Amino acid sequence: MIFTHQNNERYLDVMRDMIRVEQQFGIETNRISFDAVEEEMDRKLFMFISESVFVIVLILVGIYLVYRSFKQELRFQRQQQNFLLSITHELKTPLASIKLYLQTLSSKKKLSEEKQSEFLSGSLEQVDRLTQLINHVLESTKETRAPRESLAEKIDVVPVFTTVCNEYGVEFRGGDAPLFAHIGETDLELLLSNLVKNAVLYSGETPEGVSVTLQSQEKNVTLVVSDSGVGIKDEHKKQIFERFFRVGEEDTRRANGTGLGLYIVDQLVKKYKGKISVTDNQPKGSTFTVIFPKRIT
Ligand code: ADP
Repeated sequence: MIFTHQNNERYLDVMRDMIRVEQQFGIETNRISFDAVEEEMDRKLFMFISESVFVIVLILVGIYLVYRSFKQELRFQRQQQNFLLSITHELKTPLASIKLYLQTLSSKKKLSEEKQSEFLSGSLEQVDRLTQLINHVLESTKETRAPRESLAEKIDVVPVFTTVCNEYGVEFRGGDAPLFAHIGETDLELLLSNLVKNAVLYSGETPEGVSVTLQSQEKNVTLVVSDSGVGIKDEHKKQIFERFFRVGEEDTRRANGTGLGLYIVDQLVKKYKGKISVTDNQPKGSTFTVIFPKRIT
């Protein structure tokens, strides 16, 4: 830009000299005037400056975009690493318990019938835990596709709520009156149990202070899961729905988990064209609100 501008100035200087000489010798030509030369000069200068500013802005935007995607990639890589660590832990723990139960059962020692059935049901519980984990991993790899209304049958959602709340020992404020909506029963169960499980887990593994509310509006169903646990910082409120995201670092975290639960919840909410939001509960804890339409249009 500078070179072109300098060349231009040189050329315009020559033009000025020529006009001056022509005026001195009284030569009449139709050449442009001094003012026109100056005007042309200003116009060119403005053009050069605006073009360079545009190019510089373009380069800066490019650098910013590359930097942003690089940072995102790094974050994603760290989350994946964390996921591998946590999934290994989640797989190893139930397997170790099952092995211990089976070793004890198959040992020569005579065990009372009571003990035997305790160990067997313990093993089955761990198998359930493994199955649930594998289902979560499979579910998280599925693509979100909104089901047609005919595919999502109309069900009474209240029994699903009562079952899940009973399972976690959580208070359910939804009444007994049936509430019909077009939603897959397994999907609703998965969605709700992930929210309730988290509410209990992040309240120090106790259902105290956790409540589940279900409300019916004209076109929508609103479910609210709130707890009085550790709460979620504002900067994490969006990230918690990302796949593999967990607050904090793997080696310092106390609660077990894989970072898949809320990702699955978010995918299911999208599948049924609903909306999910998270806010602070008062005086402490978090509130998850899900609104989904009774009919899928
Ligand atoms: P996981 O619980 O397996 O780590 P989730 O996807 O269910 O994975 O949750 C992601 C993160 O969001 C959790 O690691 C936790 O830090 C945070 N979180 C989720 N639910 C709650 C809650 N009710 N209270 C506080 N933190 C929560």
